[in-house]
Amino acid sequence: MKIAIIGGGITGLVAGYRLLQIGHEVIIFEKEKELGGLLGSFKIEGKSLERVYHHIFRTDKYIINLIEELGLSKKLKWFNGSTAIYYDKKLYPFNGAVDLLKFKPLGMVNKLRLGLVKIYLEKEKKWQKFENVSACQWMKKWGGKRAYEIIWEPLLKGKFSDRYEDISMVWLWARIHTRGNSSEKGGEKLGYLTGGFGQITKEVGNRIKKMGGEIKLRSQISDVRSQLEDFDKVISSEQLKNIDYLGAVTVVFSSTQNLSKYYWHNINDVNSPFVAIIQHTNLVSKENYGGKHVYYLGTYLPQDHKYFKIDDKIIFKENFTYLKNIFPEFDKKQISEKKIFRFKTAQHIVKTNYQCQISNVKKDDKIINVNFANIYPEDRGINLAVREGEKVIDRLRLY
Ligand SMILES: Cc1cc2nc3c(=O)[nH]c(=O)nc-3n(C[C@H](O)[C@H](O)[C@H](O)COP(=O)(O)OP(=O)(O)OC[C@H]3O[C@@H](n4cnc5c(N)ncnc54)[C@H](O)[C@@H]3O)c2cc1C
Repeated sequence: MKIAIIGGGITGLVAGYRLLQIGHEVIIFEKEKELGGLLGSFKIEGKSLERVYHHIFRTDKYIINLIEELGLSKKLKWFNGSTAIYYDKKLYPFNGAVDLLKFKPLGMVNKLRLGLVKIYLEKEKKWQKFENVSACQWMKKWGGKRAYEIIWEPLLKGKFSDRYEDISMVWLWARIHTRGNSSEKGGEKLGYLTGGFGQITKEVGNRIKKMGGEIKLRSQISDVRSQLEDFDKVISSEQLKNIDYLGAVTVVFSSTQNLSKYYWHNINDVNSPFVAIIQHTNLVSKENYGGKHVYYLGTYLPQDHKYFKIDDKIIFKENFTYLKNIFPEFDKKQISEKKIFRFKTAQHIVKTNYQCQISNVKKDDKIINVNFANIYPEDRGINLAVREGEKVIDRLRLY
């Protein structure tokens, strides 16, 4: 068959690669000037880095197998991640039961409830029972009001902005359940590909070209019927029409300053312009980046938020001013390189009864939809993006 793929993100690329392997003719159309989508990269301190922070888990078998197949296994390294929460002007370590016990903002009863709720969600496999209840309602009821206000509400607001009250408990269940089950003896390990995950997209892209596939960059498909009429099938990773999405913005910078001992910082303060600080070089050695520390300040925002329109300078100013509240020693003069990245389609809004919404997406005989909003009940990520790309083969057979 002659197959068109809309989108050169990891899903579209894997789909194209697998289809070529079984003898189909493939052309990939990517609207941007580079491949990668949300997994796209850039250069910082002369080295390739993701525009958006990325790591994987030991249980991410699809991406791990692909890394092996591409001959990149030796570069996949596993690290101990460390997490902290910034709440009420203080940074608290938040890595497990001991840290939870020491977490002052919550009383003993609330800590116990929080711990029990986490264990319950990690063990519970029947996600359908969380389908028609919002994460807010469920957590307030079972986790307690105080834990909801300090832990869950900031997390939901951080990820879903002003849509946080719509979010289904299935989404939160999936996060806690998957994460809890990715741990092993000696604690959870986070995986990173030395030299950047961009090597995956680059290698898959090269193999596609070697097998005779075509990749057309700067090629936006706005009308499948007229632009792709010559194709037998279309695999589309573009956003779905009846699903709402949020955008994401990351501020990335390198600096001589070592601000924190933690890798991941959840910023539980509604006044912060970012919801997470990732000190990337607390996972991967700074020696990979010329001895400089690399940071991400990340946030999810409505697609019409001012950050998608205003000048970079204002975003840097707002972000760096707030960062100084957390780390008073932060000195922007020590920054060596800085960049801002904006993604309009970064996260779909997983409302209650999301299954219904997904099944109501208009079906078309010619188009197979592989947008990440189809991934359910799990949360999207590069592992499942590979799975969705590979599943295209079975879906084609079923059509
Ligand atoms: C802030 C953030 C942090 C993340 N962290 C992690 C992490 O730590 N670990 C992890 O596993 N995952 C993480 N993810 C998720 C991961 O990046 C995504 O799940 C994955 O990259 C999605 O790949 P995709 O190909 O499905 O979609 P996308 O990357 O969105 O690719 C879709 C592509 O289609 C193109 N396109 C869309 N419409 C058209 C059109 N009409 N014509 C032509 N081209 C079009 C787009 O330009 C894009 O390149 C994170 C995501 C975000 C936003």
